[in-house]
Amino acid sequence: MTHQTPHVVIVGGGFGGLAAAKALRKTPAKVILIDRTNHHLFQPLLYQVATSVLTAGQIATPIRSILRNQKNTTVIMGEVTGVDKDQKCVIVSDADRQDVPIAYDYLILATGASHSYFGHNEFAEYAPGLKSLADAEAARNKILQAFELAEGEEDPSRHRDLLTFILVGAGPTGVEMAAALAIFVRNTLKSDFRRIDPASARIVLVDMAPRVLGPYSESLSKAAKQRLEKLGVEVRLGHSVDLIDAEGVVIAGERIASKTVIWTAGVSPSPAGKWLNAETDRAGRVRIQKDLSVPGHSEIFVVGDTASLDQNGKPLPGLAQVAIQGGRYAGRLIHNRIVGNHPPSPFSYFDKGTMAVVGKGFAVLQSGKVRISGFVAWLAWAAVHLQFLATSSLRLSVFLQWVWTYLTGQRGDRLIVSQHASEVMKPGLDTPVNATFASR
Ligand SMILES: Cc1cc2nc3c(=O)[nH]c(=O)nc-3n(C[C@H](O)[C@H](O)[C@H](O)COP(=O)(O)OP(=O)(O)OC[C@H]3O[C@@H](n4cnc5c(N)ncnc54)[C@H](O)[C@@H]3O)c2cc1C
Repeated sequence: MTHQTPHVVIVGGGFGGLAAAKALRKTPAKVILIDRTNHHLFQPLLYQVATSVLTAGQIATPIRSILRNQKNTTVIMGEVTGVDKDQKCVIVSDADRQDVPIAYDYLILATGASHSYFGHNEFAEYAPGLKSLADAEAARNKILQAFELAEGEEDPSRHRDLLTFILVGAGPTGVEMAAALAIFVRNTLKSDFRRIDPASARIVLVDMAPRVLGPYSESLSKAAKQRLEKLGVEVRLGHSVDLIDAEGVVIAGERIASKTVIWTAGVSPSPAGKWLNAETDRAGRVRIQKDLSVPGHSEIFVVGDTASLDQNGKPLPGLAQVAIQGGRYAGRLIHNRIVGNHPPSPFSYFDKGTMAVVGKGFAVLQSGKVRISGFVAWLAWAAVHLQFLATSSLRLSVFLQWVWTYLTGQRGDRLIVSQHASEVMKPGLDTPVNATFASR
């Protein structure tokens, strides 16, 4: 169906989808952005929610509030479950209605990625990942709960398991989370407990790769590892995890008992490739052309983590900047087509560099041939992350919180909110169980 005013449907209000919507703000079109959540999430700071530095509301913003002044754009909260390329519509379900078709003239899929357990989906029950706000809050609840349970436990032999935290995956998320957790237990919590010493908590970071921060240069990996070890993180490299269960993990035949295991390893793209029945790479990302469209469908574009495009012989990485620049490009290309302008030249990703923070006042930065580690890199990391938060109120609020945390060691949100007042959550289980302290 071709509409008199063209309909541009964008699926996903993450980095790619939001950038596309903004690029279409002056386009004479009806733009419909569909997301299964009501918020745009700044995933790079998820670990700070998981480790109590920031609150959920400081890293996420309602999509409709970001686009409230963009009159040509309608935001719909719903789950897309398929695409009918012949009828040119996406199929959407929400809590109220199932399989509603929404027609498009142009379609941008920016549906991101989720966790990959590398074929071991059974690990998910004991080692939740870190992809959504709900994941970050669940991780925070679990970490804080472990300290509460240990303080309530008279038998000191049980403290060790309760206070062992294992992070599987030493990429940027695992490294950032391990460092933030180390500082949390050694500084923020140090005076809060009487029976346990939070500083005795064991934080173990494991990866089958031979070094942390694989995509970074060897010198930066080394600097990050040294920093982690200085913060008291045990770094176990070169071994895959054989097993994860309610009692902990088994690595290279050795069991490490733990009630809190968090998965920060692989990612797997959204099922956009299946919806489109399109060619994908080995990971399942849709192979797109240099104008980000799907071969044979010049009206369908795929951007961000769920797309696969090579540049200079290498696939573009799953980074926020790749998604933002891709979304912006697809939006601009559609705008030009609608208003009859020349199409932009083929998409070319401009690498602004990558950064990972390793605790207070230390980050690694790699940009072209530049490699920096330490305080200057950390300042650059803070400035860039503030700049890319969705609204100026978030930028101010996060800046103030960071200054406060830097100066006092205190964090933004240490509440356990997953339970009813009379119940506690057993670590490793999703279901609350009644607490019977009286019977001990
Ligand atoms: C913990 C973590 C830390 C990271 N740190 C960094 C970092 O420091 N620097 C960096 O550059 N990158 C980082 N990344 C990667 C970066 O966040 C991603 O590359 C980026 O978010 C990809 O953007 P996207 O638009 O493709 O997907 P996303 O931003 O993930 O957005 C996808 C959107 O689609 C929606 N969606 C998905 N499926 C459906 C559906 N079926 N129906 C409706 N809506 C749907 C989702 O709700 C979501 O809003 C990190 C990622 C994670 C998880």
